[in-house]
This record gives sequence, C-alpha cells and structure tokens, in this order.
Amino acid sequence: MTSLLDWIATAPLEELRKHPLHPQNKPEKLWRFYPAKAWIPPICQRNYGKWKKRRVIDPGIVEVTSETGEKLYLVKVILPVRVSTKTLYEILDLADKYGIGWIQASKMGNLIILCDSEENARALAKELRDKGYLVGGWGNRLWNIKICSTYITCTTAVIDAVTVEKALGDVLYEYTQKELPAKLTIKVSACPNACGGGFDASDIGIVGYPASIPMMEGWRIKVLCPPRSLLEACPVGDIKMIKDEKGRPVGAEIRGQVCMACGRCHDFCDAIAYDPNEIGVMVLVGGKCSNTGAGPGMAKVVIPFIPAEPPRWPTLVAAIKRIVDVWVANAKKGERLRDFIERIGWNKFFELTGLPRPEEYIKPLDKAPGWTSYGWQPLYLRRTDENKRYIGTRISNDMMAISAALFEF
Ligand code: SF4
Ligand code: SF4
Repeated sequence: MTSLLDWIATAPLEELRKHPLHPQNKPEKLWRFYPAKAWIPPICQRNYGKWKKRRVIDPGIVEVTSETGEKLYLVKVILPVRVSTKTLYEILDLADKYGIGWIQASKMGNLIILCDSEENARALAKELRDKGYLVGGWGNRLWNIKICSTYITCTTAVIDAVTVEKALGDVLYEYTQKELPAKLTIKVSACPNACGGGFDASDIGIVGYPASIPMMEGWRIKVLCPPRSLLEACPVGDIKMIKDEKGRPVGAEIRGQVCMACGRCHDFCDAIAYDPNEIGVMVLVGGKCSNTGAGPGMAKVVIPFIPAEPPRWPTLVAAIKRIVDVWVANAKKGERLRDFIERIGWNKFFELTGLPRPEEYIKPLDKAPGWTSYGWQPLYLRRTDENKRYIGTRISNDMMAISAALFEF
C-alpha cells in the first residue's frame, strides 16, 4: 500500500488540492509535507520566469504582464502589525469576491490580493477604501511602517513599538499615496535585537534601547533565576556572582564595567528590568538591499538617543517627518534615501535636516557619567557611583512588586 507521504510526493497538483488535508482545505494539517509548488498560484506557475513588465496603475495596484500575454493585478492593503481575525476575514471575503482566491502576506507586513482583471482590482481597491482600509504603498511610496512583535509576545522589548507605529503612521499616512522620489521603508524594533529591522536595510530605522545598565535586585535573583545561569546569559561577563560565607551562590549583581545594555539578562530573569526613565530610541537612515544607485549598505545612526515619549512620541515623529520631507524636497527621481545622502554628503544632510551631528548631540551629555564625547554608545566605566543606586535599592515595575509579595520577602 502506498504511504501518504509517497502519495503526496507523486500525486498531481490538482489531485493534491482536492484532498481534504490540503492546506487550502485543512490548513492546520500536514502543510509542511506539501511541495512548495502547492503554495504558488497556477497563474504564477504558468508564467514562472516569463514576467516582463510591471506597471503601477494606482497607488495600491500593480499590473504585471507576462510574455505569454497573461496579466496579474496585485492590490496592496497596508496593515498594522496586529489585526483582529474579524478584520482579516472581512478582507479575505473581499479577496474571494474580486480576486482569484490567493493572497500574499508581504515582508513589510502588507496583505497583497491577487486579481486577474483591472476591473476587479479597481473595484476591490474601491470597496476596501470605502470600508476605511489603507490601499496604497506600491512603487515610489511609503511601503509600510514595519515593527517587531514588541511587548505582547516579547520579554526583551525596551519600548512599545506599536505606539511608535501608530504615531508615525498618523503623520506619514499621505506618503503611502503620493509619489515620492523612490521607495521608502521604515522599520521599528523595540530592542537592539532588531527583529523588526532598523539596523539593516531600511531607509529609516528606529531601534529602542536602554541608555543605562538594567536595574537588578541582586538578592531576589536567588528565587527568580539561578545565579550561575544568569552569569552565562551575559555576553560580556559583566554579571558577578554573590556568594555567602560558605561560598554558595546566593545572588548576582551587574558590575557596570563593560555592560553594553543589550538586555539579555533582562530577558533571562524577572528580577532585572530597564530603568523606565532611561529608555529611548536611536534613529538610523540609509539602509538598502538593492544594488541600484549607491548600492546596498547598512543604515547609519543619525540620532543617537531620543528619550521615550509614549504614546505619541512627538520628538521622534517630528525628526522622522523632517528627514522624509528633506529627502522628498531635494532628492532626484529614483534616489533612495541612501543614494541621496551619498550624493549630497553627510554634512549637507545634517545641515538640511537641522539635526545636530552626533558629536554635537553628545556634548550636553558629555559631563554625565557614562557618556563619551566621541561616540553615542554609553560607556559605563565611569558609572561606579551611579551603579550603586541601581543595585539592590529599586523596585522596577509592577512585576517586581508582585514577585516580592509572592515570595513574602
Ligand atoms: S526586536 Fe527585541 S523586542 Fe522586538 S521582537 Fe525582537 S527581541 Fe523582541
Ligand atoms: S544588559 Fe547585557 S551586557 Fe549588560 S549585564 Fe545584562 S546581559 Fe550583560
């Protein structure tokens, strides 16, 4: 008797699709055994390698034409990082009504609906817009503001990226519709792990980070996390074990000598938290993957630190808006932000945007312990006095208070 896997490997695609366990019919079952082809719409399989023309016919619709003459219309719905199932079902019902039964979730967090006629694509875009959805972002426009999963699912988050996305989106909304010099991507990550992007290939990146070493209540470590494992969690060996008179590990402390505020210990142990008064974001610009213009490159830091100002982030939003407006007003057609800066030079970029150059920005902080005059990253070698007030004296957040109550210390 043929096994199910053998049958899956040999059965024709049409037969696979009719099977009750096919992802289209039972998405939760066996999807991983299906050949990649099963996930590709038939029109794309027929025209693989044959697409020759791409035309943006509306801010939210792209027409792609194959050399066989077949056409496909891609309607882009710009979505926030989280949407309810009700919203998704509403969009999918419309996709079924006007499309060919296929959608694509894009890397920038958008939903792309495939249609086979311009008439259907335009009708779909109209109905989506009438219902209040944001249809746009194709071509030389803002593609989306992409963020990481942040607080709800992640214990490492330093800032709430969702509020940054909302505050920025409210201000940059029109850039998803109007023609810009080139494509624009904005990525926000709530910590330097940068799952949402920011350090990498985004035109504008925003990354949350703590400007001081995490706070720790050393004596609580022994009940919340094993000190020995906590030591191993620190990539730079900045955590020191506290031992009792018999040499047994009873706690730990952050020495603050070489801590780079990566937050790994915070992720590892609930007795460690960021100081809410010393969290914020850095802003980077000029990341790009494509080899057009000045070629690919990583984004560079242009604003080292903006203190967190949730929920509307006025300073951050004003700075990003100014960067985008300067680029829109001065860039040549086809110039991504990186290409634009390469052409005019960094000095001119800072002059046009009015942003303080990083070294100027650092100046007022220069006298504060831990900040160097030559770089944006805090240096903790001089923070000894400051460290003392962090260790063992502060209850950082509600969770710590709850922990204390639970353990009746
Ligand atoms: S970037 Fe940081 S906060 Fe965001 S999902 Fe990744 S680890 Fe979590
Ligand atoms: S924040 Fe990172 S470098 Fe600093 S003590 Fe924690 S794990 Fe070590």
